[in-house]
Amino acid sequence: MLYDDFYVKSLIRSVEDWPKPGINFRDITPIFSDPKGMRMVVDAYVHRYITSDITHIACIDARGFLIAAVLAYELQKPLILIRKKGKLPGKTISQAYDLEYGSAELEIQENSVKTGDNVLLFDDLIATGGTLLAAIELLTSQGAEVKEVAAIIDLPDLGGSQKLQDRNIPVFNLCAYEGD
Ligand code: AMP
Repeated sequence: MLYDDFYVKSLIRSVEDWPKPGINFRDITPIFSDPKGMRMVVDAYVHRYITSDITHIACIDARGFLIAAVLAYELQKPLILIRKKGKLPGKTISQAYDLEYGSAELEIQENSVKTGDNVLLFDDLIATGGTLLAAIELLTSQGAEVKEVAAIIDLPDLGGSQKLQDRNIPVFNLCAYEGD
């Protein structure tokens, strides 16, 4: 489906002072409940990555899972889940990180990627970049290379996408909001 920037942005709801005062939360749940919007978003990534040489798609708990799972199905790539602490069974590797609001820890299952794997890393939104940088650490510690980061939304003023580009990791996002 032809991508319509205005239409997709109209499906993103801004919720002021949630989950904490001062945070302008960008809510993407209306995209999931709008079949046309969901298809537009997924198709935008399918068009970008259909001929790329990525071998795996990794995605971040929990909103990142929703689009990345459909993308992995469409592109016929293995899907790697990077989850919040304590959710993955078996041997895991963990990485602590700071959030725009608070701090947390991410985990990946041991041996889920290896040297030679070219990973597309997906999350819903890039703010300070702390979450994605922690995820990149987990993937690269297993020998994989992160070829690109994809997100729906970038908040460029919070500096995350710049930090990723400073590490020579290209960033592909569908829309951006100035400020926070
Ligand atoms: P960061 O690590 O600061 O780049 O934060 C990105 C992660 O936190 C993503 O997984 C987002 O889902 C979530 N997040 C951070 N800030 C916001 C925001 N303003 N609106 C919605 N989600 C956010």
